[in-house]
Amino acid sequence: MQIHTLDLNYQGKPGVTVAYLIVGPEGPVLVETGPGSTLKTLHERLAQHGFAPQDVKHLLVTHIHLDHAGASGWWARQGTQVYVHHIGAPHLIDPSKLLASATRIYGDQMDTLWGEFLSSPAEQVTPVYDGDEIQAAGLTFKVLETPGHANHHHVYQLEDVAFTGDAAGICLPGSPLRDLPAPPPEFNWEVWQGTIAKIRACNFQRLYPTHAGPVDEVNQHLDEFRELLDAAALFIHDHILKGTGRDELVDIYVQWNRERAAAMGVSGDDFARYATANPFYMSVDGITRYWKKKGVGNS
Ligand SMILES: [Zn+2]
Repeated sequence: MQIHTLDLNYQGKPGVTVAYLIVGPEGPVLVETGPGSTLKTLHERLAQHGFAPQDVKHLLVTHIHLDHAGASGWWARQGTQVYVHHIGAPHLIDPSKLLASATRIYGDQMDTLWGEFLSSPAEQVTPVYDGDEIQAAGLTFKVLETPGHANHHHVYQLEDVAFTGDAAGICLPGSPLRDLPAPPPEFNWEVWQGTIAKIRACNFQRLYPTHAGPVDEVNQHLDEFRELLDAAALFIHDHILKGTGRDELVDIYVQWNRERAAAMGVSGDDFARYATANPFYMSVDGITRYWKKKGVGNS
């Protein structure tokens, strides 16, 4: 079994978003598709490993956000079986609600950022549940329920490694910086704490986050990510209590992250790649929504 990282060169930037190609005894399996806008790059990467699209019979997506599953409909239509969280599955078959909600966030940037999102034929979509085992290309992937980033999020375990989607955060190749993708509407602080503990308890030898490449220091990564999760949630909480307005809070949150990055010696270019993987305003909006649901700052 071999695992290859396929860099999708999202928005012309390397090391931002990847898909994973796993070559099993009976052929290739894909984990994640990237968005429609990087489908051509994904095909080129597969070809570099000697595979044509029709060789890919099995595709696992960790969740249905556009940077992870945006091209899944294209694969489903050409005969690939798509495995996806049962909550997300209906939205791959009929993406109208998913696209309407994304359009509210991205507006006229939708096409440039994400490209085409095609619906999937229902028979090509297999809804999966916590604890399920997926048999694909002679490999067994175990499904782990991992909410906190989204309610429709799974981590896929393969032997002693895991494909973590966004559940273990963002860590770009060669960078010491961790980043928290906390988009609205489902970011949930304490639920995500439970997910990190669950991943840590599995003692994986390596993690494969979708942004963007393998992580070997698993415990250190998860501990640092947990610290960031807590710090970011509390940072936004305190600003809501202070009455900081949304746009000002975005500026302050970017500055807070820029200072964290600078303290670690992260270059401006690398910092920009983090912002491409995960625009900071999105986490401000996601964490704010979480606190408002709890009644913080609603007086
Ligand atoms: Zn996501």
